[in-house]
Amino acid sequence: MKTIGLIGGTSWESTLDYYRLLNQGVRDRLGGFHSSRLLLSSVDFAEFVPLMKSGDWATLGARLAMEAHLLEKAGADVIVLCTNTMHKVAPAIQGAISVPFLDIRSVCGTAIRHEKLKKPLLLGTRYTMESDFFTAHLAAVSQLQPLVPSAEDQLVIDHIIFDELVKGVVSPGSKAKYLDIIAKADAADCVIFGCTEIGMLLTQADLAQANLKLPVFDTMKLHVEAALNFALEKTVLEKTP
Ligand code: GLU
Repeated sequence: MKTIGLIGGTSWESTLDYYRLLNQGVRDRLGGFHSSRLLLSSVDFAEFVPLMKSGDWATLGARLAMEAHLLEKAGADVIVLCTNTMHKVAPAIQGAISVPFLDIRSVCGTAIRHEKLKKPLLLGTRYTMESDFFTAHLAAVSQLQPLVPSAEDQLVIDHIIFDELVKGVVSPGSKAKYLDIIAKADAADCVIFGCTEIGMLLTQADLAQANLKLPVFDTMKLHVEAALNFALEKTVLEKTP
């Protein structure tokens, strides 16, 4: 089994899910006492939020590149960055390591293409929805035509992530707001949970209950599955440009 290097802490609420699902996945696949071989570098999110707010992506990139480099030096065979938003600085991270970087955008795009869907509605932080590092990647690498919510709805989604989900708060009112926003996306043929905490709030079953027929692609779960496949040598990583 290969060693997975996780960069977590943004936020630790979803890093917990990565940790749990990776270990469960190895136990399910290998049985017995098997568990996932992991290295985790968990950062202090409070250092990151002001840098995001001020748009200092260069510092964030340098910081995460160092974390990735240290994980590689410690023996990681692959780097898994447990957040969508920070993939904005993926090139800086990739430039600092010689082991593969398991890009959450490629993993997500591949899963959508596999289902022959084309027009995902992307939900995530405002950084993920308003800049094009995610949507342009989906378009270029996976030939998708992603959609994003209105600017007003992006703020609602972002506030719920930062004021509630990353603090472990899950509220029925916020779930209803997300479902209302998804219901407006007439042109979409699926939904991306493009923030690793959205799965804490919403599931495919919630959409079904609200009579929304769009299939859900939860990036956190897909990322875990891809990391398991890599660690257990079941698949070849797609190359990220
Ligand atoms: N974990 C989140 C994501 O997947 C949001 C927190 C962050 O800004 O990193 O984008």
